[in-house]
Amino acid sequence: MTASTLDHVSNDQGADQAPVTKRVLLLKPRGFCAGVVRAIDIVQIALEAFGAPIYVRKEIVHNSYVVNDLATKGAIFVNELDEVPEGARVIYSAHGVSPAVREAAKARGLKVVDATCPLVTKVHVEAIKFAKQGYSLVLVGHRDHEEVEGTQGEAPDVTQVVSTLEEVEALVVPDPDKVAYLTQTTLSLDEARYMIEALKVKFPNIVGPHAQDICYATENRQVAVKNVAHGADLVLVVGSRNSSNSNRLVEVSKNLDTNSYLIDSADAIQPEWLNGVKTVAVTAGASAPEVLVKDVVEYLQAQGFGDVDEVEVMPENVRFGLPPEIVQAIASAPKPAVVQ
Ligand code: SF4
Repeated sequence: MTASTLDHVSNDQGADQAPVTKRVLLLKPRGFCAGVVRAIDIVQIALEAFGAPIYVRKEIVHNSYVVNDLATKGAIFVNELDEVPEGARVIYSAHGVSPAVREAAKARGLKVVDATCPLVTKVHVEAIKFAKQGYSLVLVGHRDHEEVEGTQGEAPDVTQVVSTLEEVEALVVPDPDKVAYLTQTTLSLDEARYMIEALKVKFPNIVGPHAQDICYATENRQVAVKNVAHGADLVLVVGSRNSSNSNRLVEVSKNLDTNSYLIDSADAIQPEWLNGVKTVAVTAGASAPEVLVKDVVEYLQAQGFGDVDEVEVMPENVRFGLPPEIVQAIASAPKPAVVQ
């Protein structure tokens, strides 16, 4: 465990005061992943380079604070491309799109900037490869999630989505010896493991991706919760309701018998959750900004949780490059005048 590195959460009690008995464990890594940083940067740079309005298909990332903030700066969020004026500029969200959406954009003459996370693109590429090789595809994930819709759309005729063991059991494919599986990037590691085990029982010759599809950020945040949940009475996860990886963090904690809640912000904390609680672990999903975590810590400090320790379970230093349209926009931006 490392000492808190955050000035705003430092414990400044004097030596003669009673020892603090209520504490916060601030998990690290938490919050923004490289794909979310990249997606938000893309919208912000596009607004600066091309001017408002910039259309964004779906929420750029699944966080209401981020979406509202970008909306105030001129981003217009739409559900489908027919809401975008012909010829306008549109950004695809970090969760990716299907080829059908790309075709629709072309038909409307839209200027596209693609903010799909490279780790989602990796799964799309795998889907295309397996489909070309004649495999039936099983995609483990939540079928109402935009990422799953996009991946399934790469090979819709041969892809089946499963999210339960019953659905695995009910699968029917033309050739049980020619089946491949993929997963959503933001699943629970444990859930993915037992689903893949069940698939291997049903289809002993099933093949999968070379490296797991669950992304590094999803894995790292879950591992951090697993490391700390046993020593906490409560785990608070900062994230929005529709954030898949945030919901999984709550599940990971509950599976370890530590009570946990998903909160959009400090305002959502119910005071009774803290009754009898001495140690609160705080983390954040991959789309939740640090400012919301800071608010939660400050709220807890005001409730007597004066001792804050940042617990770094593993380092995380991933960065993704920007897409060519945005690199070009930066390069073409007028340079500030040099003052002699
Ligand atoms: S959670 Fe993972 S897949 Fe999703 S945007 Fe972040 S890095 Fe990419």
